[in-house]
Order: sequence, then C-alpha cells, then structure tokens
Amino acid sequence: MAVALVNGRVLGDDGFREDLAVLLEGARIAALVPPDDARCRRAERHDLEGQLLLPGFLDTQVNGGGGVLFNAEPTVDAIRAIGRAHRRYGTTGFLPTLLSDDLDVVARAVAAVRVAIDAGVPGVLGIHIEGPYINVARKGVHNSEKLRGLDEGAIDLLTSLQRGRTLVTLAPEMTTPEMIGKLKAAGVVVSAGHTNATYREIRIALKHGLTGFTHLFNAMSQLTGREPGVVGAALDDPDSWCGIIVDGRHVDPAVLRIALRCKRHDRFMLVTDAMPSVGAVEKSFTLDGRVISVTDGVPVAEDGTLAGSDADMATIVRNAVELLGVELPEAVRMASRYPAEFLGLGGELGRIAPGYRANLVLVDDRLGVRQTWIDGKTPA
Ligand SMILES: [Zn+2]
Repeated sequence: MAVALVNGRVLGDDGFREDLAVLLEGARIAALVPPDDARCRRAERHDLEGQLLLPGFLDTQVNGGGGVLFNAEPTVDAIRAIGRAHRRYGTTGFLPTLLSDDLDVVARAVAAVRVAIDAGVPGVLGIHIEGPYINVARKGVHNSEKLRGLDEGAIDLLTSLQRGRTLVTLAPEMTTPEMIGKLKAAGVVVSAGHTNATYREIRIALKHGLTGFTHLFNAMSQLTGREPGVVGAALDDPDSWCGIIVDGRHVDPAVLRIALRCKRHDRFMLVTDAMPSVGAVEKSFTLDGRVISVTDGVPVAEDGTLAGSDADMATIVRNAVELLGVELPEAVRMASRYPAEFLGLGGELGRIAPGYRANLVLVDDRLGVRQTWIDGKTPA
C-alpha cells in the first residue's frame, strides 16, 4: 500500500513547501501532490506534525560509528552497526571508509561491502578507500608503514566492487595520470587527498579523471602566494567536488567561507569523517594500536594529530548554517544532492522528487532527527 507523508514542510527543488504531501510507493517517491489528491486519500497517511522533511543525508566519508571502526572490523556486521549509528543523525546513505591498510584488509573490506549491498544492509552505497596510495609527507593519522604507490597490480582490487560505488582517495603524485585514467574508465571515483602535489600535478590529474578533493585544506599542500598547491588547484577548478568537514575544528570557519566564494556551492559536499565515537558513549578507541581520544570535541592521537571527527551529519549541517552562513536548504543539498551527484547517483538519490529513492529524514527546527526512511522503510 502507498504511504502519504502529510502535514510536513517538504524541501523540494524550489525550497520548503507546506502545501504538498509526499507519496511513497515501495522504495520510491511516487509523487508530490496536494494532500487532498485522490491517491493520497487512498494511501496510508503518516502525519509529519509540521516538521521538516529533507532528502536523507549522504556521507561519503565514514570511518566508523556506534563504537565500531571499519578498519578494525571490515565486516558486514560492522557496516550494519556503523549505518545504524549514523542513521540516528539523518544519514540514509554512506560509504564505509577504510583508512590506509594492508591490501588483504582492503580486499576484505571490499568483499564485506559487496555482501552488505547484496544483503540489503540499509544505507550502504559502496566503499571509500582512503589510501594506502597517499603521500607520507601528508599522512595525518594514517600509518606510514601501510603507505605505497599505486601501480598496475592494484587496479583489479580497486575496481572489484561491481554493485555500489567505489571512491578512492589517493595522492596523484604517488601514481601516474594514466592510472587515474584507468580507474576513472572503470567507474571508480577518484579524489585527491593526503597529497603534497603541486598545482600543475593536480591540473594534469584533473584532465585524466580526478573529480574530487578529500577533506579540503586538511592533509594537502596549501595555497600560497607563488605555489597554489592542492588547495589552490581545487578552488581554481570549476567542476570538481570538495569534501569539507564543518566541525569548527578541522578548518577555521572563515577559511571555509572564503572557499565557498571561490566556486559553485554545488561543488561542495559536507562529510563527517566520523570515527567510532560518533553515536557512542565511549569517547576513546584504538586505531592500529594507537589510542585515540576525543579531546575538546575532536579525536586526537597522543601526539596531537587529528584523527577524523566526532561529529554527526545533523550537527555538520547545522554548523554549515551557523558557522558558514549557508541557508538551510543549501546546507541540506550539500549533504544530500551534491554528494549524490559527485558519486554519479544524482538521478536516484539526494532529492525529494518523483522516481527518486525514498531516502528521507524528518527533523525539527534545530535539526533534531525525528524519523528516517531508507528505500521507503523506517527503522525496524
Ligand atoms: Zn583523511
């Protein structure tokens, strides 16, 4: 039976609408119609009590949540637990993200995502493989012993996920433009991160299929007067997407406001870079044998290195409004439609529109999450 979501403020393509109901049929959005439409009257009605109905958030960088770290447990159960933890904060689509690790761990992670997708684990859309093909000079919290260059032998592994998307964060200077081209041709989304590349090296990579920048400003060569660096190349290129962590800590909000003025907003996407502490009471965990503790709201290693974030996506969206001055509808698109388009899923995810997958989040005016739907289903 169809479900009619009535009496909400619905974020459609032209802003919030109070005069429309959203009709769901199975896993899809069938129509946006007036609530007295005949199809609505025949459907099971669900009263949204005046709350905000948004496209579900899509997070392309999720290392963990609910006390689980994907690197430590590259399993279907871990993916399910991480997805459940983030769903409570409005995330209805995500890429479990593996930090630099041995290739057998990468292979196990890809296999786990494949099984999770086939089993219908809610929200999992593919995998983000962040490293090990990165530059030790910009390693951040990644383990330098795991890092390596990207050669021909890795292509089979990185292109082995058939259903679902594969996002690879690499340092372009640790491979060749031809390898980036091969990944792109195989359907892999390639993003530059943990990279010390020059502006010119990034320009060449962009020509060969690089389309993204991972946590812009963090772990990359910076914009300076005579060398624009990775940051300068990212902001100078009109077409590529930039992931940003708006937790108030990874990048100064003033710097992000400047960045937003440099290129189209629809080329920015909000990411959490979340660690196991998100959605968990325990605020310490181990990464590769090192103790990471949330201190002043951000996970840090004992040497003070930032280790991902302790932020959930609802908070990040609220921060985009409050710290960056982005209007709420645009902040929501930066967490739904734009990352969907980055992954090549813009035709099915990220909008409340007919034919789209019914991935939705209902929030109050403070972005407190009231309900979520993934493929038309509320949590079991
Ligand atoms: Zn990183």
